Amino acid sequence: MSAFARAEFSNTYRALGSRFSTPQAPVPVKAPQLIRFNTGLADFLSLSAELADDPLTAQYLAGNRIAARSEPVATVYAGHQFGNWNPQLGDGRALLLGELRGRDGALYEVQLKGSGQTPYSRMGDGRSPLGPVLREYLVSEAMYAFGIPTTRSLAAVSTGERVLRDFLLPGGVLTRVARSHVRIGTVQYFASRGDTDAVRTLADFVIGRHYRDAIAADFADDPYTGLLSAVIHAQARLIAQWMSVGFIHGVMNTDNMLLGGDTVDYGPCAFMDHYRADKVFSSIDAHGRYAYDRQAEIGLWNLHWLAQALLPLMDEDQDQAIEKARGLLEEFQPAYESHYLSLFAAKLGFADADAPVAARVESFLQQLAKYNLDFTLAFRALGDQFGTEPEGVFCFPPEMQAWLDEWRADLARHGVPDAQAQARIRRTNPLFIPRNHRIEQAIEAAVEDGDFTLFQTLADVLQTPFSDQPAQRELAAPPAPQEEVLRTFCGT
Ligand code: AMP
Ligand code: MG
Repeated sequence: MSAFARAEFSNTYRALGSRFSTPQAPVPVKAPQLIRFNTGLADFLSLSAELADDPLTAQYLAGNRIAARSEPVATVYAGHQFGNWNPQLGDGRALLLGELRGRDGALYEVQLKGSGQTPYSRMGDGRSPLGPVLREYLVSEAMYAFGIPTTRSLAAVSTGERVLRDFLLPGGVLTRVARSHVRIGTVQYFASRGDTDAVRTLADFVIGRHYRDAIAADFADDPYTGLLSAVIHAQARLIAQWMSVGFIHGVMNTDNMLLGGDTVDYGPCAFMDHYRADKVFSSIDAHGRYAYDRQAEIGLWNLHWLAQALLPLMDEDQDQAIEKARGLLEEFQPAYESHYLSLFAAKLGFADADAPVAARVESFLQQLAKYNLDFTLAFRALGDQFGTEPEGVFCFPPEMQAWLDEWRADLARHGVPDAQAQARIRRTNPLFIPRNHRIEQAIEAAVEDGDFTLFQTLADVLQTPFSDQPAQRELAAPPAPQEEVLRTFCGT
């Protein structure tokens, strides 16, 4: 028997009741094959390392078999998609298998994505092409390696079946892991139906899973206000972290924002190569609603909907509740700016951020825009300015010398020793990111030739994105003009 069959699943979310989810078995696929199994994450979840080599693992991670203690469900939610209210969405192609306990003592939800139709599939087939599965694996695990809160990827499986999109494409299933998958849209679903009791159940669930200590410390008498505060601050930090690595989520609908503060939904996301503040990749984001420099604003817009949904819990007197919510929402922008500034200050080598450092950050970004420079490598190459241990991955244009001199003078004025600045720069600026063109090349090789070499190499390299891996330098490079990816697509 496979070790996965005996995995110690609990089914806490399912136990919240039938309002929140519907039992649903995965729909088996023809010939599942394991492409990648995340042994580090498996170990964290106390899953046996032997699973990586067990032929039955693919059967479990494609949904052909179900672990003895797993009781799969599809969860319901709603959400604002591109600003428009959709009263019912839900797991249309995902299933929650249950939770496993992590070595940190917390419960982690395990989902299959691409596992067949559910009551929430609407017109969809419940499947996922292999390409988006590989993409999500690479990007989510890179985000984890950057230290950015994210859903994770336990495995990628190919199904041996084809799915029909614009073409027939090979199918895949991703095993997604997160502390929880409660979305702003989940709370909205029940709030929009006037089901305050269900909103309270969800709120208690999220508090218990994510914020028990924070709320006990600061909001013991007012836990639901505490929940709103915690989510606002988690999102402010998360979005600042996205900005710090040039990440554009691309589909910040309210159903794609988790209360727990993990990044979720890696459909049309992308990292920018050369810097542009209003960069958009997603093919369906025609108006740039989710552009790089609008992410904080949209995050706050989404949080207004969460606040609205929680109001009935926050005070018997709704005017009072609105006052509390307004006060907390006003904390978002300053919290975001403070995270943003301290992250970018560190990227420039500074220990702390003050007004001159903020101006320095801004002027650096202006230089990147002016000379059309690669965001990731330009930051990383600042570490080469100290004359020792140059990595030599990038050259600044000679016109930037004046800026570089002023920046060095700023560091000196702030009393930052060279070695400290260099170490901080290399600790906070990844050398390797999941570049769009490399992801596309990896997907193309996998889908057209069944060749997973580049995918596996990328997944390996991105586990330690801050360390120079000289043999893999070409994966750090920006695309040649003809390689550049201009558009990304939802993973549907
Ligand atoms: P997303 O764009 O991934 O945020 O998905 C939005 C909604 O569409 C969610 O309810 C998904 O479950 C659903 N969905 C996306 N793709 C499919 C599919 N292939 N089959 C069924 N439902 C889908
Ligand atoms: Mg989604």
